[in-house]
Amino acid sequence: MPPSILWLCRDFRFRDNAALAAAAKAGPVLPVFLIDAALRAQGAASRWRLQRALLAFDAELRRRHGAAVLVLEGEPEAILPALAARIGAQTVHRNDWPEPATLAAQQRLGRALAGTPARLVLHPGHLLAHPRALRTGSGGAYRVFTPFARALRAIGPDRPVAETARLAPLADPPQGLAPDRLELAPDLHRGRAVLERHALPAGEAAALARLGAFLDRAADYAAQRDRPDLAATSGLSEHLAMGEIGPRDLWAMASARAQADAAAGAGIAAFLTELIWREFAWHLLVEFPRLAQRPWRPEWADFPWQGDGAALTRWRRAETGIALVDAGLREMRVTGRMHNRVRMVAASWLTKHLLTDWRLGLAHFADSLTDWDPAANAMNWQWVAGCGPDAAPFFRIFNPERQAAQFDPQGRYRRRWLLGWQGAKGEEARAYLDSLPPGWEVARAWQDRATPGGLAQGRARALKAHAAFRRQAPGP
Ligand SMILES: Cc1cc2nc3c(=O)[nH]c(=O)nc-3n(C[C@H](O)[C@H](O)[C@H](O)COP(=O)(O)OP(=O)(O)OC[C@H]3O[C@@H](n4cnc5c(N)ncnc54)[C@H](O)[C@@H]3O)c2cc1C
Repeated sequence: MPPSILWLCRDFRFRDNAALAAAAKAGPVLPVFLIDAALRAQGAASRWRLQRALLAFDAELRRRHGAAVLVLEGEPEAILPALAARIGAQTVHRNDWPEPATLAAQQRLGRALAGTPARLVLHPGHLLAHPRALRTGSGGAYRVFTPFARALRAIGPDRPVAETARLAPLADPPQGLAPDRLELAPDLHRGRAVLERHALPAGEAAALARLGAFLDRAADYAAQRDRPDLAATSGLSEHLAMGEIGPRDLWAMASARAQADAAAGAGIAAFLTELIWREFAWHLLVEFPRLAQRPWRPEWADFPWQGDGAALTRWRRAETGIALVDAGLREMRVTGRMHNRVRMVAASWLTKHLLTDWRLGLAHFADSLTDWDPAANAMNWQWVAGCGPDAAPFFRIFNPERQAAQFDPQGRYRRRWLLGWQGAKGEEARAYLDSLPPGWEVARAWQDRATPGGLAQGRARALKAHAAFRRQAPGP
């Protein structure tokens, strides 16, 4: 049997891995990971986390099957046709990660393989269902979440692919870069040590363990998922972003638990709805690739957003003086993570109170989050800013103090991240200060800059700007 190439892409798992299963079934397999332009354009924290995913996968591949990942640097169309010719491979298997730059790279490879004996075969694996499987009555793509979720539940997600028992390695594989000596994120501003200290375990086994622990406490999820001071959510987003767990598999395992454990049913149903939000974001990105660059509602192209300036710098440095916003931004700098409720409040502060272009916030999150997901990041930023599909209307402006009182009632979350907030001495808060690069002027003790009436003024300013814009550009 001729060997095949398994071209890896954020699919670092053995379960429910269609490309891996197909390659293993066909004959010897050469797993390949490419450091290409599409990867280098991704955010630093995400690349740092990806390196950990790659290492964990490579170690498990060696342990289970005696095979190793061949890591090479360059563009797929320049490397893979020559590699296929060299080892006599006729197929390049790949799980489809439908992000625009990656799709373009796949297309370039397809063209480069034309006229050679080898071909590229794409497998579904990143989503619950193929975007074309979900269509409105008139045949278009869904633009509103609730009918989308109803339609997905009606057809049901695709079934996970059975795990491969045996993968035959290539007898004499070419040599590449050593995965344990790579430096995929040399531009990580806060340095590796900061993230490493707070890193969650990487890899498929860690993802499954995290899922198991979450399902044991899923009964509380619906009531507590908005509380950043409690560990109520699954914490699976990093694993999903790296493909260390597949969404179909996750859906099947969570649904099976809901059937077996009535007490957890409502919590798991709420959790599955969140997975559908992830799915919705990806279907939107596939149908409308502009989602990550331009306002979904075209009339918003002329909204008078502020650009890069002092207010954005303070926001980036987590020095807005608004406790919940700064706590979230500091959590993200130190851990690469931020609770969803706090993401919404921090994004709302930037786009509404500071009237700053949502794309600048999106870029900062993309560079800082270890769970960066191009679709979820873009959809959520547009949702908060008011210009996205099914978005929160612009006049929905989070009041960060009310949000904090409701979702961090004892102040535990803020105390953890803000040294000096109501006398807080948290270790994580110190880690934030230790992570700052030279030149970042940040007060040692956090300073409250919320003035009486200041929040209301910011809100009024945002509403005024929006009303003026609406008069000029009345849209749907
Ligand atoms: C401005 C902004 C930017 C965001 N950027 C990202 C991003 O880059 N990557 C990312 O994975 N999520 C992003 N989210 C969504 C959400 O904040 C995270 O998915 C969530 O905090 C991850 O924690 P968890 O795994 O514990 O979530 P859980 O509550 O356990 O949810 C389970 C899974 O559902 C999905 N999910 C949950 N909420 C959302 C949502 N609002 N939109 C889409 N999918 C969701 C995630 O895959 C998550 O892992 C963003 C949200 C906002 C408001």
